[in-house]
Amino acid sequence: MECSSDGAEGDAGQLQGAELTGNGALDVVTTSTLLPGATVLAGVLGLLIGSFLNVVIWRVPRGESIVAPPSACPRCGSRIAARDNVPVVSWLLLRRRCRACHEPISARYPLVELSSGALFALTTWHFGASAATPAFLYLVAIALALTLIDLDVHRLPNSIVLPAYPAGAALLAAASWEAGSWTALGRAAIGGAALFVAYLLMMIGSAAVLGATGMGFGDVKLAGVVGMYLAWLGWGELAVGAFAAFLLGGFFSIGLLMTRRADRKSGVPFGPWMLAGAFVGVAWGGPLWASYLSLLG
Ligand SMILES: [Zn+2]
Repeated sequence: MECSSDGAEGDAGQLQGAELTGNGALDVVTTSTLLPGATVLAGVLGLLIGSFLNVVIWRVPRGESIVAPPSACPRCGSRIAARDNVPVVSWLLLRRRCRACHEPISARYPLVELSSGALFALTTWHFGASAATPAFLYLVAIALALTLIDLDVHRLPNSIVLPAYPAGAALLAAASWEAGSWTALGRAAIGGAALFVAYLLMMIGSAAVLGATGMGFGDVKLAGVVGMYLAWLGWGELAVGAFAAFLLGGFFSIGLLMTRRADRKSGVPFGPWMLAGAFVGVAWGGPLWASYLSLLG
């Protein structure tokens, strides 16, 4: 009884707020005061996570621990002090050089941190105050790490991809529980399996045509995770996200072939395109799919 009366009071409060604004936009009233602050906080968290992702991107392909030893300069091996490890800021203050040996530090480190910060802020802004936000922040973090590792070494490490199945499923289950609907979770299971099988068939097909330079099993395993997340949002998001991956990857590969930076045998990592496609699917998949369906009549 107490719960229901609390709920009624909450509704009444929202309605009063709506009357005050005169526009009847309930969600604006309840979240507009919190969301900018939460977005900024998420951006700062993203910068810090980005600093950790730099460690992951460097160490995981080398089979090194991501917790110990502490960060060191890859050239001279001197430890990086806490004051020199502030995302982006330290890189600027040190004038892009190691404090000990003065070797230049790649711009890639602050760029990863900035990308992580921007993506965390965008994701929080997009999903707002819901349990979907942490679920998709996790996807953003592993996507950024996997993109750079795949570009570096043409691999998608199992140690990052495989834990994403239970972790992603648990986070999406929490978001479904909060929303009070399990339909999305069932759709996620089907979508994950469907995209996994689709990529498996493409891997077998590309192996027959291209040999070893075709799609790898790492792509297939990542496809299951991407399919799960996209289908949790909706079938439209899954369709658009999966299609966008091939559109982006295809244009890029054709561009490389035309500028002769790659030949047909050099193989282009597909993980980054699958994840870029997923970004398109998450951000614009719903409206794009709806307008596509309306075109069909
Ligand atoms: Zn150094």
